[in-house]
Amino acid sequence: MNQRLPVQGPQGDLLRLVATGRAESRAELARLSGLAASSVSLRVEELIDAGLLAEEGAGTSRGGRRPRRLRLSPGAGVLAVADLGAHHVRLGLLDLSGDPLVIEEHPCDITEGPRRTLDRIADAFDALLTEHVPAGVPLRGVGTGVPGPVDPATLRVVTPSRMPGWNDFPVAEHLATRYDLPVLVENDANLMAAGEARWWPGTENLMVVKAGTGIGCGVIAGGRLHRGRGAAGDISHVRVRSDSSVMCACGHPDCLEAYASGAALMTALTEAGIAVTRPADIVTLVNDAVPEATSLVRGAGRRMGEVLTVLVNFFNPDVVAVGGSLSAAEPLLTSIRAAVWERCLPLATRDLEIAPARAGRDAALQGAGALLLEAALTM
Ligand SMILES: [Zn+2]
Repeated sequence: MNQRLPVQGPQGDLLRLVATGRAESRAELARLSGLAASSVSLRVEELIDAGLLAEEGAGTSRGGRRPRRLRLSPGAGVLAVADLGAHHVRLGLLDLSGDPLVIEEHPCDITEGPRRTLDRIADAFDALLTEHVPAGVPLRGVGTGVPGPVDPATLRVVTPSRMPGWNDFPVAEHLATRYDLPVLVENDANLMAAGEARWWPGTENLMVVKAGTGIGCGVIAGGRLHRGRGAAGDISHVRVRSDSSVMCACGHPDCLEAYASGAALMTALTEAGIAVTRPADIVTLVNDAVPEATSLVRGAGRRMGEVLTVLVNFFNPDVVAVGGSLSAAEPLLTSIRAAVWERCLPLATRDLEIAPARAGRDAALQGAGALLLEAALTM
């Protein structure tokens, strides 16, 4: 049994079709891959011999003889993924289908700089692998989300806010010194979008807004993550209309983030004498009907909605999903909807859904798994 071998080329393609749930029989593999049935059978046998695929007795019946059902072998491998926030990291192990084996959350201060932070993540991965993965089941890829822009060509973080010491740091190279495997480094909102997309099957064009300490947005276009030059979907520094003028951390006045981010709302509440330490506290205040908090969240939603109005007219998405810790505050979504419905072209909003994100708090980890699977099986 050699599990390290055939996962690239056509075999990788077949394995990916099974891992993503798109195929569960040899006939479906042949149809989706375009390979001849005999060729598919040969490769499936090789993948079974390699301990990567397993074949069970009965699949979905379509009349006549039931095809045998293909599934990933539990020994096919695992992926180690992390989602790094400002004050904590969620990380865990997934099987190759993206289902979690174990997920943990650790406190983690990103301002300690990249080396220390990434080494902590790698130490945590190693501990989880030792504890939860049987010997002989290979690690197939390592990935992390970071709360800043990532250059997709170099996998370095580029001029992030609130991440001192990270600018231009070779994140992927640093992780690669510990893992000789595919390494994924991606902006956290992009990962969240890739994870959220799994929950909207058949939706080709999706915008996923992350409303947390900062504001992020990931774009799925034609069913795939749209990275652009690396900053695609970054709506945080779009200028908004305002009577006053507030300086943003980027040095420009009146960015969306300076008014509508969790960080901005926390500053405003603190100035009003209301104690908050994290965006989730704002949600609690709104649920307790504290008028200052509700009013601020409503204003934040309205400003996000104004920016989204432009984007919805321009991009015409099928779905705008809103996640992140602030999204649990109901007035946020209501205000976003109101702004978009009022200002967008009827054709753009006729079938548009503006909805809470479905993937939950592990959206980014699920997205990392989905993107890493592609990297691990197609290189
Ligand atoms: Zn700015």
